[in-house]
Amino acid sequence: MQKIIQLNDRRFKVMIPAEEIDRAVSAVAERINKDYAEADTPIFLGVLNGSFMFLSDMIKKIEFNNEISFVKIASYEGTTSTGQVQSLIGLNGSVEGRHVIIVEDIVDTGKSIEHMFELLQAYNPASIEVCTLFFKPRSYSRQIPIKYVAMEIGNEFIVGYGLDYDQLGRNLKDIYVVTE
Ligand code: 5GP
Ligand code: MG
Repeated sequence: MQKIIQLNDRRFKVMIPAEEIDRAVSAVAERINKDYAEADTPIFLGVLNGSFMFLSDMIKKIEFNNEISFVKIASYEGTTSTGQVQSLIGLNGSVEGRHVIIVEDIVDTGKSIEHMFELLQAYNPASIEVCTLFFKPRSYSRQIPIKYVAMEIGNEFIVGYGLDYDQLGRNLKDIYVVTE
């Protein structure tokens, strides 16, 4: 019997169980461990709110010395992107000359990450890479390279593991998808 949950007006069913998420998080952390083994104290920049659970699980698997900071960018409501991207808050300016890894919950059209990337460039970091838990390749339309992708999905709307539907569902340990 498939477990169905209700968040406001929508019903959701499990799409990706927690064990599968954990394997994908381990695999992406392993790649980052290899690539940054010799780098001078990289900074992980978690994009709030969605990335908090992914970053907290992934960082436990990171083996080099690092710093963590959280930034906030445009909010997203409902099942379609609003197209409204505001400015970046929470950055203290200490990224100059540093290796930065932006940590996202999901990259959809790429509008948010592109904006984030451009704002960060103004602080002159040594490098910027993007690490995202989910990537929607069929929706992505920007040029920013998304180097670290834990999982690729289609254009379906998902919730759980930090991702919300109208602010609900972030606590779920599995990933859920809308159902009829
Ligand atoms: P983009 O700017 O790449 O189109 O959208 C990125 C943002 O849209 C994500 O950070 C996230 O907040 C939201 N988003 C895109 N797709 C989904 C989805 O399937 N589920 C949830 N919960 N949020 C999504
Ligand atoms: Mg996000």
